[in-house]
Amino acid sequence: MVGCSLAGVRAAEELRRLGFGGRLDMIGEEDHFPPFDRPPLSKEVLSGSRDITEARLRLFTDLHATMVLGRRAVALHATANEVELDDGATISYDGLVIATGTSVRRIACEGSDLAGIYYFRRAEDCAQVLQRLQAQPRVAVVGGGFIGSEVAAVCRARGLDVTIVDLLPLPMVEQVGQAAARYLLDQHVRHGITMRLGVGVAAFEGAGEVRQLRLTDGSVVAADVVIVGIGVKPETAWLQDAGLVLDNGVVCDQHCAPLGGASMVAAGDVARWFNPAYGTTMRVEHWTNAVEQAEYAAGALLGIEGREGYRSVPYFWSDQYDMHLQMAGIQGPEAVVVEGSSADRKFVMMIRDGGRDVGVLCVNWPARFQRYRRQLKDHLASAGPVTAPAPGSAS
Ligand SMILES: Cc1cc2nc3c(=O)[nH]c(=O)nc-3n(C[C@H](O)[C@H](O)[C@H](O)COP(=O)(O)OP(=O)(O)OC[C@H]3O[C@@H](n4cnc5c(N)ncnc54)[C@H](O)[C@@H]3O)c2cc1C
Repeated sequence: MVGCSLAGVRAAEELRRLGFGGRLDMIGEEDHFPPFDRPPLSKEVLSGSRDITEARLRLFTDLHATMVLGRRAVALHATANEVELDDGATISYDGLVIATGTSVRRIACEGSDLAGIYYFRRAEDCAQVLQRLQAQPRVAVVGGGFIGSEVAAVCRARGLDVTIVDLLPLPMVEQVGQAAARYLLDQHVRHGITMRLGVGVAAFEGAGEVRQLRLTDGSVVAADVVIVGIGVKPETAWLQDAGLVLDNGVVCDQHCAPLGGASMVAAGDVARWFNPAYGTTMRVEHWTNAVEQAEYAAGALLGIEGREGYRSVPYFWSDQYDMHLQMAGIQGPEAVVVEGSSADRKFVMMIRDGGRDVGVLCVNWPARFQRYRRQLKDHLASAGPVTAPAPGSAS
């Protein structure tokens, strides 16, 4: 097992649950176990309502594993069935689970090495930001995506002066589409966040510590703390020479088996697999997928696999202000509110592509959401299984 966070741990548990009694080596760069669960970090932990020590992943099964923590895999020697570690040691395997997830994209501009600029993925990042927030700083959040929006909402709820800067015209538009993103923009504005959209960061300025951001339109945003959330990239560098197909993740067939590999599976944020539910390859950066795909992949590694493959209707949730947002499925060009209304801040929106329902998004209505989510799954299933393309023809 390489990668010892959500997908790695859930795959290990599933292997044991399915009766695998052999040796299990779990290699993870982060050196705490159980690993931290990431969703609470940008929500309850940052808001101060939950202690960081309580944000660990819950374990359901005794793993009986050899933990190799604080170590990075630096190469996969696939022909020798060996993983090479950063201390030169090698670990051999009969079966391999690739669960190395993603890491943050870093901003490259003048001043990006000033103190006071943070990224937000690991528990350590969260702890550092939490500590800085005690001094009531002015906060700038670069990136109005999923993480940036949540962090901004929490900082604002703590009474801080917050600005969101994003090159895109709307927050979370890539995840939720135009119509819902316009609604999210209204929520930020209603809660008093300053939105600087459609503009980038040219430089961070300050003497040793950041004091302001100079934007690409020449304007300036004052900030003592900057949190950058401009997306993530799949952690595949260690697989570079392994003969696998790497293209925005580890490209896999419908059974989560990497193309070009043998005796291995990939799961979680790092895997880009052929999803029969949509008839295309996709990589999903959400919690529920990491769990469900890890469970499927563990079974596939043991030779127990569904005929059709890992069929998934992706799901995520996000909490911002008094809003619980849930979405299942994927983006499409059309969106229509089918129940409730944005004025009541409680609604269900269907997302369609060419008349076909491809996703559903819901605000503050979990019970209704579950009904629509089930319907969407049935609808996609009734469209019939989609055949996988020939290996290597990832779309
Ligand atoms: C702050 C935050 C909030 C989130 N909130 C939500 C939410 O509300 N809803 C939702 O659906 N999703 C949310 N997510 C996304 C969710 O947490 C991820 O989808 C999930 O963590 C993916 O799990 P993973 O195990 O695939 O990858 P990761 O969590 O990225 O874990 C990969 C692990 O592999 C290790 N690793 C990487 N490379 C190597 C290597 N070469 N050798 C050894 N180890 C390596 C890493 O250190 C890491 O521990 C959130 C994410 C973050 C960061």
